[in-house]
Formats: sequence, structure tokens, C-alpha cells
Amino acid sequence: MKYRCVVCDYIYDPEKGDPDSGIEPGTEFEDLPDEWLCPLCGVGKDQFVPEEEETVKEEKKKALDMFCYQCSQTARGTGCTTVGVCGKQPTVARLQDNLLFAIKGISAYLYHARELGYTDDEVSAFLEEGFFSTLTNVNFDAHKLIEMSLKAGEMNTKTMQLLKKAHIETYGEPVPTEVPVGAFKGPGILVTGHSLKNLEDLLIQTEGKGINVYTHSEMLPAHGYPGLKKYKHLVGQLGGPWFDQKKTFAKYPVAILGTSNCVLLPKDEYKERMFTSGVAELPEVQHIENNDFTPVIEKSLELGNLEDEPNKKILSTGFGASTVLSLAPKIKELVEAGKIKRFFLVGGCDSPLPQAEYYTKFVEKLPEDTVVLTLACGKYRFNEMDLGDIEGVPRLIDLGQCNDAIVAVDIAVALSELFGLELNDLPLTIILSWMEQKAAAILWSLLSLNIKGMYIGPILPGWANEDIINYLVTTYDLKPIGDPEEDIKAIMGE
Ligand code: SF4
Ligand code: SF4
Repeated sequence: MKYRCVVCDYIYDPEKGDPDSGIEPGTEFEDLPDEWLCPLCGVGKDQFVPEEEETVKEEKKKALDMFCYQCSQTARGTGCTTVGVCGKQPTVARLQDNLLFAIKGISAYLYHARELGYTDDEVSAFLEEGFFSTLTNVNFDAHKLIEMSLKAGEMNTKTMQLLKKAHIETYGEPVPTEVPVGAFKGPGILVTGHSLKNLEDLLIQTEGKGINVYTHSEMLPAHGYPGLKKYKHLVGQLGGPWFDQKKTFAKYPVAILGTSNCVLLPKDEYKERMFTSGVAELPEVQHIENNDFTPVIEKSLELGNLEDEPNKKILSTGFGASTVLSLAPKIKELVEAGKIKRFFLVGGCDSPLPQAEYYTKFVEKLPEDTVVLTLACGKYRFNEMDLGDIEGVPRLIDLGQCNDAIVAVDIAVALSELFGLELNDLPLTIILSWMEQKAAAILWSLLSLNIKGMYIGPILPGWANEDIINYLVTTYDLKPIGDPEEDIKAIMGE
């Protein structure tokens, strides 16, 4: 019998097995070893259910209207799941959760800005107000909570601007950079997460030690910053998005450093050569204090050399606002001549859900007179594609990490000035992918700028019930992703 992962919908088919994890075709689900993990999202066997229609229906029936267990009045001492004992309605409960998610996202960006010595009192004060309004018996007003979410969006924009300023003032404005993907001969350290500060400190401490430093996932854009690319031992990238880490980390016997999200619970085979820093922590994995990376360096040297991998593929990154806007006169000319019909911002968090295939197909099927801006780890769905250029304007432009959504906003504002058009009248469509709560903060940033007609996937946010979805659809024309070709036709007006 086939089994389905309730987290990511991966289907375990006994006829196929899971050869990448050493499971032979013909292995029944019950015979899988206990330590077997979902190859897509990494959860254990306990998160699988038999793939029978009835089971799916049953699960859907069990969906909760709300879930709140934050005070001692909670129903049956376990949780208010239909309406609060205090009278809190499901939509209010979900808006409170949404506000907390946006606040978490803002906090992540503010944390990285503070690592570089930058902070903002107005944002900090908003975080206090936002947290406080979700406390028991404080705010039961859905309209006010929507207002707070939009304010969270504004504060997130401000925080992303602050972090961008911190990155640029510390490391210089990114420049387009080609990054080889694959191993070079020598000992190595693989760095994942988002903290450029931790990467910089590691690069300083590894200088002259013969160690190659590689990026993984959201660390890829680091290669574009002059203040980081000057370190010649920052040699390239290994692997792709965050959820390939169990495969990538197992494949390359190097020391691994997780500097923030997204780190997954490690496999036994590499946990003794994995380290975390900053907010990231994992059980049985050594945490680095005060950015003293001596244990990581010692582990890397002890592990010895990687062999050189031939025929490395190349990824491009490092397009800052200045680089893109230096092309503005050419872009204007090409748009006016009908040679660029539309810009797409396709980005956000990548996710192992099968629905995320949409983003690959969407970019693959775009007409050749369109340009794709991208950012965050959602780019791994298509950044190996060679989309070429339109008279010198690259058709695929990687703006950086998820916080670089602010660069996309700056570019959109500059284009609207260039063409004398309102933001919503620009030939620009935003196709968002979301996974974690920084994406919730970015969604509210874009909504607070009154950007309409965005597409969102790979699924609609779970915190948004029918009331909230209706509000987002009627007010902002937010659309769930559908069929890539149909969506492209609709956007291009065909
Ligand atoms: S705050 Fe209200 S909804 Fe939440 S647990 Fe307490 S009584 Fe239930
Ligand atoms: S963009 Fe989101 S999903 Fe991707 S690595 Fe960063 S935090 Fe994780």
C-alpha cells in the first residue's frame, strides 16, 4: 500500500522504494527502518498515513476552526478549537497568529541588522505593541488586527531597508557574480543560513589555513558582496535549497555551520561534524559561542580533503538595485519598443511540497520577451535555467536573500518613476512562494504598499480562514497559484 506524508504530501510507493535513501524497490512501508525520513520534508514515519481517499477525507474533517491554549480558561484544559471560552472568534485567533508570524519575520531581519550594529527604536516599539496585542483579553477586534498586520508590513519594510543598509555599508553593494557549484580539492567548511556576519567572521578566521569555504541555500548571495568575495577561499556553493541539506551534508564530508534558519534536525552520519551559531541550535550539535569558530576549523582540518568535482555548473547572483537600475535607460527603450513585455518577481521561500513545481514550470514557460527577478531560496526552482538576455538585459536576475525583497521594491518604485506609472499599472507581476514566517512579514510589506494582483503559493497560508482569504482577495486581488500556463496566459492578457 502507498503511504502519504501528511506534512508535504510525498507519496511513498513500495513499488519504487526510495533508492536515494538506500530503500530498494519492493520495500513495504511497514518494513522501512525506523530512522527512515521523508525524502522531501524530513519528517519520520509517524507522519505518514495510508494513501486512501477516506483517510484524506477524515483528516480534512478534523481541521480545526482555531487553536488557542494560551490561558487557563482554555476548553477542557487542552485548547479552544471552535470558539474561545473568552469569546474570541476563530478569525480573531487566526489574525493574532498571523500577527505573531509577521512579528517573528521582522525579528529575524532585525536580529541580523543588530549583528552588524544597526537597530531601530520604532520597529522595536512596534514589536512590543504587536506582541502585547495578542495577549489574552487585550484585543478582540479583527479590523484592528488587520491594521496591525499592515503596520507590521510597514515595519518589516523599514527593517529590510535597515538590514540592506547594514549589508551594503559593511560589505559594499553586491555585484553580479558567477558562483561555481561543486567541490574543490582541499578541506572545506559549508555554511548555511542567512548571517553574513557569521560568514565574515568565519572567513577571517580561516584565512591562510588552506580551507575552502562553501555556501549553501540562502548563503549563496554572499558571493556578490565585495567585502566577502574578496576572500579567495570563499570558493563556491554546494547543494541548493534548505531542504536538500540532509542529502548535501551527508554527501560532502566537511564541517558544516548553520548560522540561522533553515536548519533541519541532522542525520546521525553528519551531526558530529555539524555546528550552529547565533540563534540556530540543534540537539547533540555543538553551538559556537561568540563567533569563535576554532572547533569548526579544527573539525574541517581533521576531516581532510574533498576531491575536485569536474564540470561544475555555474549560478549567477549579486544583482543589487544600482546594477539593475544602471540598465534603466536600456530597459525603458526595450519596453517602449515592445521587446520586454513584462517583468515577473518570482521568489520567496522554497518548499518541498509537490505544488512548488509550479514555480519551475512557470519560469520555464514564460515568453522570451519577459524578465524574471528573483530572491530567497525559491530561486533554486529555476536558477539553473539559462534564460539568456534581451539585448544585454539578463532575463534572470537574482537580487539576493529574502530580505532583498526590499531591493525588488526599490526597483519597482524606480521603474514606476521611469515610466510615470503607478506601481499597480507597471508591467510587473509578483509570484510569491512562502514557507516560513519571514515570508508572512514580506507578504504584509507588499500588501501595505497596496500592491494588487499578486499570486501566492505553493498553498494558501494555513492561518488564513475563509474570512481572511475573502478579505485579501477582495481588497488586494490576491490569487492562489493555479496552472502555470493558464496563469501566464491570464497575466499576459492572452
Ligand atoms: S485566550 Fe480565549 S481562546 Fe485562548 S485559550 Fe484562553 S479562553 Fe481560549
Ligand atoms: S528563504 Fe525562507 S525557506 Fe528559504 S532558507 Fe531562508 S528562511 Fe528558509
